[in-house]
Amino acid sequence: MFEHRHLLGIEHLKPSDITAILDRADTFATTPDSRAVRKDSLAGLTQINMFFENSTRTQASFEIAGKRLGADVMNMAMQASSIKKGETLIDTALTLNAMHPDLLVVRHPNSGAVALLAQKVNCAVINAGDGKHEHPTQALLDALTIRRRKGRLQRLTVAICGDIAHSRVARSNIMLLGKMENRVRLVGPRTLMPPGIEKFGVEVTDDMETGLKDADVVMMLRLQRERMDGGFIPSEREYYHRFGLDAAKLSHAKPDAIVMHPGPMNRGVEIDGEIADDINRSVIQEQVEMGVAVRMAVLEMLGEGRG
Ligand code: ASP
Repeated sequence: MFEHRHLLGIEHLKPSDITAILDRADTFATTPDSRAVRKDSLAGLTQINMFFENSTRTQASFEIAGKRLGADVMNMAMQASSIKKGETLIDTALTLNAMHPDLLVVRHPNSGAVALLAQKVNCAVINAGDGKHEHPTQALLDALTIRRRKGRLQRLTVAICGDIAHSRVARSNIMLLGKMENRVRLVGPRTLMPPGIEKFGVEVTDDMETGLKDADVVMMLRLQRERMDGGFIPSEREYYHRFGLDAAKLSHAKPDAIVMHPGPMNRGVEIDGEIADDINRSVIQEQVEMGVAVRMAVLEMLGEGRG
């Protein structure tokens, strides 16, 4: 039984909640030879997607997910809306609330903004990424991809590499993988490591060979230039040399280790293009596919009881 009204972060979920979402998502996951699953479990419900920050994958997959479940889905182009005219986040939320949506999917550049908004509206709110804080559906789709590929989501060694400090994907994944009893290693330059991160029960290193040694999963992160306000790295070339995933660095991981990236990728900065496209190692396209399945599961579970 899923007892949450909103999905604001992984932080609030129990291991059994995570398993319940992944089990439901598995029923929506398409295989190459089957057609996408469609249902009408959200028929009559209204889903509004409010993205105050750019998004390709996340917004598109929330839209597809809602439509496959029969919801009426509306995308608000926040750049073009009243926000430009100076309306506050709360005013916007109250205006939308008056239209009685059932599900609100929100992405915002400020950490905590989505939780604040959830306090002001009557509908279920899903965090689609808030600043450097959390991106719960990304961690869930990563978990589903890992579970399907590795056959389990426990006792795995997962190396999360790169710009940890600015990454909501890293934060949500650290919490989820920790709750499910995996060994998490963070690999990146000290300047891109949040202070005090060790207290989350992770191992930290600035050496790719040490960090990737015998890893089952290698998760690369984008260098988040838009969230940096200073010189965090010497140069992209130097960064690629030390931290970019290429065949030589990947050879330290287990021979069957999978390579992940949440996208969008900076090829030649944090990852070599050939590794990203290697269908024997990279599961990056599968992550995108699992994104739809996980978002269908989350929307359906929060939508249940609202119809
Ligand atoms: N798409 C992910 C996010 O929104 C990762 C990234 O942007 O690097 O956080």
